Amino acid sequence: MAVNLSFSPIFIFIMVYDYAIIGAGAGGLHLAQAMLTDEWFVDKKVLILDKDAKETDDKTWSFWEKGEGKWDHLITQSWDKGVFKTREKTIELELKPYTYKTLQALEFYKDGKTKIAKASNFTWIKEEVQAVESGAIVLIQGTTNQYQAKQVFDSRIDRKFKEGKDNYYRILQHFKGWLVETEKPVFDTSSFVMMDFSIKWQDTASFTYLLPLTPTSAIVEFTLFTPELIPYDAYDELLTKYLKEELKIEQYSIAKVEYGVIPMTNYPFEKADKKGITKIGTAGAQVKASTGYAFKNIERGSQKIIENLKQQQNPSTGLVKQKYRLIDTLYLDVLTNHNDWAETLYTQMYERNDIQQIFKFLDDETSILEELRIMNSLDAGHFLKAVIYHFLGIRIH
Ligand SMILES: Cc1cc2nc3c(=O)[nH]c(=O)nc-3n(C[C@H](O)[C@H](O)[C@H](O)COP(=O)(O)OP(=O)(O)OC[C@H]3O[C@@H](n4cnc5c(N)ncnc54)[C@H](O)[C@@H]3O)c2cc1C
Repeated sequence: MAVNLSFSPIFIFIMVYDYAIIGAGAGGLHLAQAMLTDEWFVDKKVLILDKDAKETDDKTWSFWEKGEGKWDHLITQSWDKGVFKTREKTIELELKPYTYKTLQALEFYKDGKTKIAKASNFTWIKEEVQAVESGAIVLIQGTTNQYQAKQVFDSRIDRKFKEGKDNYYRILQHFKGWLVETEKPVFDTSSFVMMDFSIKWQDTASFTYLLPLTPTSAIVEFTLFTPELIPYDAYDELLTKYLKEELKIEQYSIAKVEYGVIPMTNYPFEKADKKGITKIGTAGAQVKASTGYAFKNIERGSQKIIENLKQQQNPSTGLVKQKYRLIDTLYLDVLTNHNDWAETLYTQMYERNDIQQIFKFLDDETSILEELRIMNSLDAGHFLKAVIYHFLGIRIH
């Protein structure tokens, strides 16, 4: 839709915010909360616009971190042990000093909204944004009103990414999760299941993920990393099979369903940044392309944005690290061209490396030497083919 953002006489007199955040999801609320806890922003006027009231519990966010964290007061459950499984083997994961934590999105939204409501320099308006026009003062066209800000942080995903007319990799991380409740205690809350390849969808990169919340409740999720989605009912069959055949649970009720699709891509989202407009969250390339995890990445990215603003730098400086984008690109190439190899790939990764080293790698914190050690632990074949394709343009099958 073409939207005319030219100045109207009314527009001239409207307030100019220092910052406007479009979207109060993970990207927007992480950033808003980082601003709220930094004195430097106390005299800055911040506008938050979201088309949604954020009253729905639409996601379960899980992540790992060392020791205590910023969101511990919201955590539903946490684990310092996990397992990786296939039909043939079970690999125990002793996570310490890391902890794997899980929280409900609604708790995060409520917490953010409460804190924002108490801050007199923050304004939250329920508004769908139609367009933004860059410049020294950014113009924001909402469905009902117009706004102005010196700097905009925008969670809306670039339209060009959705059109898909480019050669970037697009693997979809898609999943359906059930919050399962039982009458008898059947879940072991001391350990969660990172990946269980015992049941797969055809010969794809697919597995079950299990978060035991209490002895009588767990989130069981069937997940795929594939270029295409599968029929919506197929997840149900796979989850039923997993509960029956792997967990031997026949009596249960489904208290909640969560379905999601996360783009795993090397698309350079940050190219949509313009003068006065910085993309954040998924739209700002903050989803780790090779895992789909984003929550902690966004938290770290928000802190980086804050530091950049305080140093008068471009807000997105240092947000995307090209070395890790290259590694993720090779990984996405392998997933695209050898999707059936995923079980072997992950088995080698979890069997031949410490989980602490894997987490560090997935957090983009490893040195080149550590990365080489991890890559060397995997059968080189498919990665070598990806390297040859990327550097020489020759595709070997
Ligand atoms: C179901 C699900 C589960 C996930 N689980 C995990 C997990 O366990 N761990 C992890 O690390 N990552 C997870 N992710 C990935 C990632 O953390 C989330 O997708 C995260 O929400 C991305 O943050 P975001 O701000 O980009 O998008 P969102 O959180 O979706 O926020 C975008 C916001 O923008 C608003 N908006 C959109 N368009 C407009 C508009 N035109 N005008 C105004 N407002 C607008 C929306 O209403 C929304 O509030 C999950 C993703 C999904 C979908």
